Amino acid sequence: MEICLFDKEYGYYNQPNPIGSEGAFTTAPEMTQVFGELIGLFLVQYWLDYEKTSPFSLVELGPGRGTLMSDMLRASQTVPEYLDASMLYLLEQSTTLKRHQQKRLNSYSPKWLETVEELPNQPVFAVANEFFDALPIRQFLRSNFFWKERLVGCSGNALHYEFSQEFEFLPLQARLSDTIEGDIVEYRPGAQKYIKGIVARIKKYGGIFLIIDYGRQHSLGDTFQALDNSKYTDPLENPGQADLTSHVDFGALVAKIEGITSHLVDQGDFLKNMGIEIRAGTLSNHLTGAELVSHKAAINRLISPDQMGTLFKVMTLFSNGEKYPQGLGVKTI
Ligand code: SAH
Repeated sequence: MEICLFDKEYGYYNQPNPIGSEGAFTTAPEMTQVFGELIGLFLVQYWLDYEKTSPFSLVELGPGRGTLMSDMLRASQTVPEYLDASMLYLLEQSTTLKRHQQKRLNSYSPKWLETVEELPNQPVFAVANEFFDALPIRQFLRSNFFWKERLVGCSGNALHYEFSQEFEFLPLQARLSDTIEGDIVEYRPGAQKYIKGIVARIKKYGGIFLIIDYGRQHSLGDTFQALDNSKYTDPLENPGQADLTSHVDFGALVAKIEGITSHLVDQGDFLKNMGIEIRAGTLSNHLTGAELVSHKAAINRLISPDQMGTLFKVMTLFSNGEKYPQGLGVKTI
């Protein structure tokens, strides 16, 4: 996954247009400005209600073309002191996408991080949309009380899957209790360092972390997938030409985290709590014809249960003892 996505020459994310209508896949902020506006306002409201601390780090992991952050910041202009207090930090691995971000967000003087450990000692307001799903996974097949790892081999010019010998794999020890012979579980070794780095700062200095992605509470089954031109393809065909992702295991993201409250809600519920229908209605008044049709379709795609509304989830992390942020609603998964 790492090589296919990020190789400097052949990696998928280093193509000229990896995301958006011309890329292999599109994301919520690329469909409608409303998504970024509501996420932006959620963070502003949290800042007003609980911290109002200045300065603070406004952080995005995997900002893509910079669309989400630019919509967030535009919506935040209603509270100028929030923008004055914010210092913008972006973490991005793709050189192509860094260029897009530079263009889009230049006026907010962003700084690019190599790791989250470089963040200064101050509150963190962080967001990651479809970032964790792109981090490489390892897949394991339950075999008795052990695991066999699914590996990628090469014969001639073709890639194929094969399984390792069975072995004890400690990070999945707890999954022996809720899986049976033949189940596949996915494990994302790279995720913890981002969570830990950001959560450590939230615990010490305050703030909040919003993670939006597709996935579920626990990984079960093979969810590794490739999208090329918005169509599913075999992940082993044409490496580097398709976007590779797999469902995020939200439970595993926070399994080892202490002192932090995590709240998980369906994306559709979150956006409705945040007033997406009202905002979408206001925008509709300025649109006609094909623009109105595509605007309505985008909103429907984000919230409808048979589209992204329940497949995508919003996880919020904040320090224990803090009041629930406004907009989350009471329903948790
Ligand atoms: N958040 C954007 C883009 C999502 S695509 C949107 O919603 O449109 C995934 C993003 O994460 C891309 O910007 C990709 O380059 C970045 N990314 C994936 N793995 C990364 C890693 N290990 N380090 C830094 N950026 C990464």
